[in-house]
Amino acid sequence: MKKWVYRFDEVKAVDKKCGGDWDRVKGLLGGKGAGLLDMTRAGVPVPPFFTVTTEACNEYQKLGKFPQGMWQEELGALKRIEKASGKKFGDPVNPLLVSCRSGAKFSMPGMMDTVLNIGLTDTTVAGIIRSTGNPRFVYDSYRRLIEMFGTVVLGIPDEEFEGPLKAYKAKKGFALDVDLQAEDWMEIVRIYREAFRKQAGREFPQDPFKQLELATEAVFKSWNGKRAVDYRNHEGISHELGTAVNIVSMVFGNRDNDSGTGVAFTRNPATGANKMMGDYLLNAQGEDVVAGIRNPDKIENLKNHLPAAYAQFMAITARLERHYRDVQDVEFTIESGKLWMLQTRTAKRTAQAAVKIAVDMVHDGLITTDEAVDRVTPDQVDTLLHPQFDVTALKAAEHSDTYFAKGVNASPGAAVGQVYFDANKAESMAKSEKQDVIMVRPFTKPDDVHGMIAAKGVLTSEGGATSHAAVVARQFGIPCIVGAATIQIDLERRVMSAGGKSIHEGDLISLDGSTGNVFAGKIPMIEPSLKEQTDLITLLKWADEISARPGSRKAPKGWPTRGLQVWANADYPKDARRAREYGAHGIGLCRTEHMFFEPDRLPVVQEMILAESSAARSRALDVLLPFQRKDFDGLFEAMDGYPVIIRLIDPPLHEFMPSEEALLEEVLTMRLRGEGTGLAEKEHLLQTVRGMHESNPMMGLRGVRLSIAMPEIVEMQVRAIFEAAADCTLRGIVAKPEVMIPLTGTVKELEWIQPRLIRIAKAVTAEKGVNFHYKFGTMIEIPRAAVTAAEIAKLAEFFSFGTNDLTQMTYGYSRDDAERNFLLTYIQEGILEKNPFQTIDRDGVGRLMQMAILDGRRTRPELEVGICGEHGGDPDSIEWCHLIGNDYVSCSPFRVPIARLAAAQVTLKYGESKKKTAKSITSRSSKALSKPRRSRVRSSKTSGRK
Ligand code: ADP
Ligand code: MG
Ligand code: MG
Repeated sequence: MKKWVYRFDEVKAVDKKCGGDWDRVKGLLGGKGAGLLDMTRAGVPVPPFFTVTTEACNEYQKLGKFPQGMWQEELGALKRIEKASGKKFGDPVNPLLVSCRSGAKFSMPGMMDTVLNIGLTDTTVAGIIRSTGNPRFVYDSYRRLIEMFGTVVLGIPDEEFEGPLKAYKAKKGFALDVDLQAEDWMEIVRIYREAFRKQAGREFPQDPFKQLELATEAVFKSWNGKRAVDYRNHEGISHELGTAVNIVSMVFGNRDNDSGTGVAFTRNPATGANKMMGDYLLNAQGEDVVAGIRNPDKIENLKNHLPAAYAQFMAITARLERHYRDVQDVEFTIESGKLWMLQTRTAKRTAQAAVKIAVDMVHDGLITTDEAVDRVTPDQVDTLLHPQFDVTALKAAEHSDTYFAKGVNASPGAAVGQVYFDANKAESMAKSEKQDVIMVRPFTKPDDVHGMIAAKGVLTSEGGATSHAAVVARQFGIPCIVGAATIQIDLERRVMSAGGKSIHEGDLISLDGSTGNVFAGKIPMIEPSLKEQTDLITLLKWADEISARPGSRKAPKGWPTRGLQVWANADYPKDARRAREYGAHGIGLCRTEHMFFEPDRLPVVQEMILAESSAARSRALDVLLPFQRKDFDGLFEAMDGYPVIIRLIDPPLHEFMPSEEALLEEVLTMRLRGEGTGLAEKEHLLQTVRGMHESNPMMGLRGVRLSIAMPEIVEMQVRAIFEAAADCTLRGIVAKPEVMIPLTGTVKELEWIQPRLIRIAKAVTAEKGVNFHYKFGTMIEIPRAAVTAAEIAKLAEFFSFGTNDLTQMTYGYSRDDAERNFLLTYIQEGILEKNPFQTIDRDGVGRLMQMAILDGRRTRPELEVGICGEHGGDPDSIEWCHLIGNDYVSCSPFRVPIARLAAAQVTLKYGESKKKTAKSITSRSSKALSKPRRSRVRSSKTSGRK
C-alpha cells in the first residue's frame, strides 16, 4: 500500500522511495517539507514534524476525500511527534500544538494557506496557562488560531476579525498589538468566537483532531484556490504537482520578550551583496513580520537582544548556504532564547543579484563556472543592459495622472525625452540641440531610420510588435512602444492626445518599453552599461569558454563540434564597435542600403536610379563608391580578425525615391501657382516613380533579382568591399569579407551573378597586390532556396538564414499585416503556440533550415551556416540553431550578451558534460551541513515532562 505520510525521522524511507534524487524528494514532500527534513537530518534545530505527501493531495483532488489510510498515518505520525516533544495533542495538562502548512515543489510565496496553533481549545488553553503561567501569550495564540482557522478553513473574510480587533483597540486606546494584556486577548477570543459562530453557523471546534483534519483538507483545497492557480499559470508551474502538508510542532515567538520571529536572506537579494539581510520582531508570531503589523528590526540588531541565538543563527545559515550552494531565504523563531529553524529555500533575486551571486559563489569555490552560467537567465541579462526607470518612481507614475496611454511593448527599456513628430526634426534636435528626443509617428518607414537612431525612444500609434518601428528599434536597442491605438497624432498642429490629455511637440514624455506604458513628463532613470558590469563580463567570459569547448556537439566531418558562436548584425562602424565590445565574434549581417539613405548620399542614389543609360548610372555609382568604401573600411577595422558578412543591396529601389503622393502634391501645387521652373523635371520624376510601382514590392524587383536587372550597383558594392579590405590588409588589419547575395531562389541566379562579382574581387586584389580570406555566399530566405540547398551550396560558400523573410514566405504571412490583423487571435486561440516572428517555428521553418543544412553540407561539408534574422537573439531559437548544426547566430549588438549566455546554456544542456543531477539527500556528502552528532530534538525549554 502507498505511504502517504513521512516523519522527520524517516529520511531513509524517503531516500529509498525517491531513489536518492533530490528533485523527486522535493516533488514528493514539497520544497518546505524537503528542506525541513534535510535540516533535521543535519542536526539543525527544527521542531518535530511530519509531511503528508503531494501524492496524497493529488489523490484527494481525484477522490474528493482523503485517500484510504492517510488519516490513520497522520495520527500515527502525530504519536511520534508527541514522543519527541514530550507533549500530547489535546492533553489538558501538557498539550502539543502544531501548525498545518502548505508547501509545493516550487515555492509559491503567499499563494496557499497555513494555520498556526492547532490544538488550542478551552481545555488545552487552561492547561498551558497553568504550565507557563503566561495567560497573555496563550490567549494571543488562541485568538490567532480562531482567526486563521476561520479565514483559511471556512473562508470567513479577514475583516470579520480585523474589524472588531481594530474597534477594540480604538476603544481602549491601544496603538499596537503588544499593548494588549491577557484580559484584552481573552476578550478578543470571546469576540472572535462570536464572529466565528455568526459567519460559519457553528461553534469553533473544540476537538483538536477535528481542527487538524479540517486544516489538512483546507491546505489540499488551497492548491486549487484562484490565487494559486493564477500564480501557477503566470509562472508556468504545472497544475498536476499538488501541495504537501507539513504538520509542525509549534514553537512560540510570542512567548515572552526573549522570544521572537524573523525572516532573512543569506545574501542581499536585491544587490547580491554578500551580507545577511533580514528582519525580526520580538514577542511575535509567524507572519507578523511580513504582515507589517509592527515595524520590524534589522536582523543585525538581534545581536544586542539575544546574542547567543543570533550567533547560532548566523552559523546555521552560513552552513545552509554552503550546503545548498545557493542563497537561502529562511524563517526562524526564537522561543525563550532557543532558536528554531522553520524554513529554508533558494531565494528569489533580481537580475543584478543573480549575476553577482553566481560570480561570487564561483570565487568562493561553492559552485563551478558551468553552474554559475546556468543560474542566470537570458532575460536577466537583458534587463541589465537596458536603461531602467527607478522602480518606486515608476510604480507611483502608474497610478498618477501623468499616465498617458498604453501600446505594444515592442522593445524593452526605459526612455525619457522631448517629443518630435518627424525624423528630421528628431534628428536635428538631438544633434544640434543635444536634446534627448522621443520620435513619435503614426508608423515608421525606412527613411525614418535616422530619426529613430537619434532618438532615445520611439512611439507609434499604429503597427504591431514586428512592424518596421519595432524591428528597427530592437535592432538598435532603442526602447519602443508601437500600436498605442488610443493616441491621436495631429501632425499639422504638432500635438498628440489620448484620454483627454494633450502632449505638444517639445514636451517631455517617458516610455516604459518593457510594459508599453507611456507617461507625460519625466520619470527618473538609472542607466546601466556593460563596461561597468564587471560581474556580468566575467560570467559571459565563462559562457564563451563553455561554448568554445570542442566536442560539445557530435556531428559528421566538417560540421561544427563546439557550441554556437555569437555574431552581430551591424550596419555602421560604431555598431560594429559596440558589437565587439559586447562580445560578438563576427558581423553576420551588414545591410548596405542604410548607407544609401544618408542625407548626403540619397540624391546621388536617386540620380543613379533615374539614369537613362548604363554610362550615366556608372557615373553616379562612381560618386557613391568612395562612400561605401569608407563604410566598409570602418567595419573591417572595427572587426579586425573577425569575419564581416556584407549583404548586397536588397530592398526595392522605390524605397529610395520620394513617395508618389508627395510628388503629386508638389506637382499640383506648382501647377496651381503657375511655377514653371522645375515643373517638367518634377512631372518626369512623378512619371518614373509611378512606373516603378509594384503591387507586391516585397516579392518584386529586389534582392538578387535587382542585381541581375542592374548589375552595376552590386559591382560597385563588391569593388568597394574589396578595395576597403585590401586597404585594411595593407594597414595590417585582418579583414575577412564575406559577400552575401540576398533573396536567392534558384542556383541559376547565383550562376549568373556570382562569377561577375568574383571577377571584380580578383581584379581588385590583383590591382592592390594583396591577398586575404574571403567568401561568397547567400541568404536562405525563400523556401525554394532551402529545398534546393544541395544545388545552391555548389556556389555558395556560406548560408545565412534570413529567418524573418523565411518565416513570412513559409507561412505565407505578410508580417506587418499578420501582427496587426490576426496573429494575436491565432495565439489566443491556440492555432499558433508562439509568434513565429519571435521564436523559430521548429516544425515548419525550422525543418526547412535543418534540411537545407543537411543538403548543403552534403555538397560542401565545410559550408558555414548562420542565422541573421531577429530570431538570432531569441534563446529558444538559439537552441534550435545549436541542434541543427549552425556555426553561429547573429543578432542585434544589444542582444549579443543574451545570445552568448543562451548559447552556453544550450551547450551545457546537450553537451557531453551534462549537468550532474542533484544527488540524494543521504548520499550528498553534505560536509557543510551534517554533523556527526545528532542534537536531540526538543520542542522547548518547558517541555520537560514526558
Ligand atoms: P508561507 O509559505 O506563507 O511562509 P509558512 O507555512 O511558512 O507559510 O508559515 C507562515 C508563518 O508561520 C511563517 O512565519 C512560519 O515561520 C510560521 N510558522 C509555521 N509553522 C510554525 C511553527 N510550527 N511554529 C512557529 N511558527 C511557525
Ligand atoms: Mg514560509
Ligand atoms: Mg530578407
